[in-house]
Amino acid sequence: MSDAAETGTDSADEPSGADADPTGGLNLGSTGPGIGEAYPLQVEGLRKSFGGITAVDDASFEVERGSLTGLIGPNGAGKSTTFNLITGMIEPDAGTVTFDGEDITGMEPHAIANRGLVRTFQIARELQEMTVLENMMLAPKGQRGESLWRSVAPGFRGDVVEQEHDLLDRVWEVLEFFDIDHIAEEYAGNLSGGQRKLLELARALLTDPDVLLLDEPFAGVNPSLEKRLLEHIHELREQGYTFLLVEHDMDLIMENCERVIVLHQGRILTDGTPAEIQANEEVIEAYLGGNV
Ligand code: ADP
Ligand code: MG
Repeated sequence: MSDAAETGTDSADEPSGADADPTGGLNLGSTGPGIGEAYPLQVEGLRKSFGGITAVDDASFEVERGSLTGLIGPNGAGKSTTFNLITGMIEPDAGTVTFDGEDITGMEPHAIANRGLVRTFQIARELQEMTVLENMMLAPKGQRGESLWRSVAPGFRGDVVEQEHDLLDRVWEVLEFFDIDHIAEEYAGNLSGGQRKLLELARALLTDPDVLLLDEPFAGVNPSLEKRLLEHIHELREQGYTFLLVEHDMDLIMENCERVIVLHQGRILTDGTPAEIQANEEVIEAYLGGNV
């Protein structure tokens, strides 16, 4: 199937992410999102129990490259646990997570992040006492992180200095992209809820990800910043980044995602376009019958 696309004759039918102009918009350096598998993230038969509760129960789904895919479900459906399983925060009892064709099940979180699959993190307490710029400089660096140990190894110093210079350039680029460069010297603890969310996303982008997992990124964000954050996500998506988004605001999901996966009691109920999901009886029942 992908062979046909390479001939160029049918390329008009390809998803728009594929022909985004890499020279336009944000240039995130030489390491933009990859162009490998059509479905960079694949989850197969994922299962996780906590005591008597099966939080994730035989979940299988895949996320298309360049998409903004929603993961929804009532409270306690297993959305956050699914993210934790995918990113290596916890180990599954069964099932596999495949990223860019590689089985990453059970790998350490940093090893998974290094491969380009990242999630956002709330700014930890210690980091709130540091400036926005310091937060960015301390963000996990993905492949670049490997250079950290080199700083103690003589002979590699020149390399490290050069990498730090590159990092600083990139940090400013990302801060400007998110319109938070003017608060670079502000303490993270003094930021508004929305600015903090922008910083969380900015830190995640520094790791050179291909796929970003966002768990309720708009919680506590005012409507105008929410709109801005969404615009940034769409812009990045057009550049080829892939997003899997957990969000409880159904209108937001339906308006912004091209595909939606529905979790209910740890199981995948269905997936489809927003229109399909909204018309699905099982989904309506799950939400009305459950505690939304
Ligand atoms: P969601 O993010 O969809 O609201 P979660 O993945 O957080 O749901 O939780 C799914 C279920 O697993 C819930 O019943 C929750 O109480 C339970 N759960 C999640 N994490 C743990 C944990 N570390 N220990 C015990 N139970 C947990
Ligand atoms: Mg959750």
